[in-house]
Amino acid sequence: MEKKRHDLLVIGSGPGGYVAAIRAAQLGWNVGCVDSEKVSGGTCLRVGCIPSKAMLESSDIYWEAKAGLKDHGVVISDLKLDLAAMLKRKNDIVNILTKGVDGLFAKNKVKRYVGRARIEAPSRVVVAATANAKSGAANEISVEAEHILIATGSVPATLPGVEMDGGRIGTSTDALEFPEVPKHLIVIGAGFIGLELGSVWRRLGSKVTVLEYFKRILPGMDSEMADEALRIFRRQGLEFRLGTKVTSGRIVGKDCVVEIEGEEPMRGDRVLVSVGRSSNIEGLGLEGIGINLDEKGRISVNDQFETSVKGIFAVGDVIRGPMLAHKASEEGIACVERLITGYGHVNYEAIPGIVYTQPEIASVGKTEDDLKEAGIKYRKGTFPFVANGRARCLGHREGSVKVLANAETDRVLGVHIIGPRAGDLIAEAAVAIDYAATSEDLARSCHAHPTLSEALREAALAVDKRAIHA
Ligand code: FAD
Repeated sequence: MEKKRHDLLVIGSGPGGYVAAIRAAQLGWNVGCVDSEKVSGGTCLRVGCIPSKAMLESSDIYWEAKAGLKDHGVVISDLKLDLAAMLKRKNDIVNILTKGVDGLFAKNKVKRYVGRARIEAPSRVVVAATANAKSGAANEISVEAEHILIATGSVPATLPGVEMDGGRIGTSTDALEFPEVPKHLIVIGAGFIGLELGSVWRRLGSKVTVLEYFKRILPGMDSEMADEALRIFRRQGLEFRLGTKVTSGRIVGKDCVVEIEGEEPMRGDRVLVSVGRSSNIEGLGLEGIGINLDEKGRISVNDQFETSVKGIFAVGDVIRGPMLAHKASEEGIACVERLITGYGHVNYEAIPGIVYTQPEIASVGKTEDDLKEAGIKYRKGTFPFVANGRARCLGHREGSVKVLANAETDRVLGVHIIGPRAGDLIAEAAVAIDYAATSEDLARSCHAHPTLSEALREAALAVDKRAIHA
């Protein structure tokens, strides 16, 4: 068996793994990174953040051309959808960005292995590389590494009773590749993935029905903002059935049939099951070396990302916390910086979460629900985009900004935005929280005119009841 040696071997080349590998190499370590996929970049680049955003942008442009440009005095008479070209554009973006990760590996001298990794001992990993063409036996490589970082991400969760066929009843990965626009797409789960992809296909012409077990959408996000989002999505034509328990789903002839407790079965031609994701630990050999899992089957780590086995670390979707690409990257950097320089830290209070629908929904810090539950006294300032000049010029006036500040210290505790480019606007709020800014700091900072960012400043002014434009 071929043998290799590194200071650090990273398992998984998603945003947690590849970023950690590059940072460790920048700091002088000899680093290897293994991924079972030939293409680097993990879920995020291959079948997650990037392809979904490519489809969001394309479907949004199509929808604007169909329904929004008339108001601007732009009339298109022979509008057509070329879905194949749209899918190709998405795939091209994925190809360029995943090759970019390989380029970064080469630049930073990170050795890339392709194959499935299994941890055999605290400092030894066996990589089952591509099968030998003649014998069919796997080409195994034994990699010795003083430190191992597990960044194997997550896989879509399944729903008991729903028979996934990997196509018509499938996951987000399938919904990024539908070869034609479904007539009726049933989305099970009103989390961010279901809403983003559901809204893509609605804009492209599908009837979309979202079934959600809870009585609200976007569990975990600020409930007032989630209610506002629900009203906007309903106005856009998305159908929602909340408080709905799906008991089974299967293909019957040409239809997908979804059975719902206490209701008539629903028929559609495609079903997207988006009921969350589970940590991806299968085949890693964790039991053999005594790595502990938590109650949700994720790898348990301490605040330095070390598992129950010395020298083995884990970051990203495979451990606790929000399943977000930037959270995985922050953890990857903090983990290796701490190992190599002695200092590394993630401020979990300042990790933004974004739902890339139209309008976007973005949030950082505490929700109002969190603050009420914790009994923390707060002041709240809100400002609607309808009163923002730039939003009017863009033709996207829906939504609002909400700033929550500590009632005694005025420190910003949470910011929640629903509206145009909310995902970009939230960056200012994340920096404010990271630097322990007050709402007064935000309100006293000059914001350029006319910009959407003025809405955030006005919401900060509204904390002290002195918004100018509302
Ligand atoms: P991953 O990106 O999942 O990478 C793990 C890698 O490990 C994979 O490449 C896998 O092949 C490899 N691997 C697993 N097991 C082994 C093994 N035994 N041996 C070798 N390799 C192995 N997050 C955002 O922040 N913003 C978004 O807009 C966003 N949109 C999303 C849209 C969709 C449709 C989906 C599905 C997810 C989205 N996410 C988004 C979530 C984001 O993709 C994940 O949070 C992120 O990819 C997690 O990074 P990671 O490095 O932990 O793992």
